[in-house]
Amino acid sequence: MGDIIDRAAKYTDAEIRHGIRRAQQQASAGNKGSAECADCGEDIPEARRCAVPGCTRCVACQEAHEKNK
Ligand SMILES: [Zn+2]
Repeated sequence: MGDIIDRAAKYTDAEIRHGIRRAQQQASAGNKGSAECADCGEDIPEARRCAVPGCTRCVACQEAHEKNK
């Protein structure tokens, strides 16, 4: 029985480590802005993501968004 609990604890450990890594990746992705345009789903070029930290739209969708304000 203890053997089974040991094995289960190892799984839990691995799951937690996996979850932490995923959360860290999501956090660092959030700092750079989204890799995909929130409106059309196209990839946002990295140059734009660096120039406009936290941007969530491609240039075309951002311009359309600003015009609709
Ligand atoms: Zn777009």
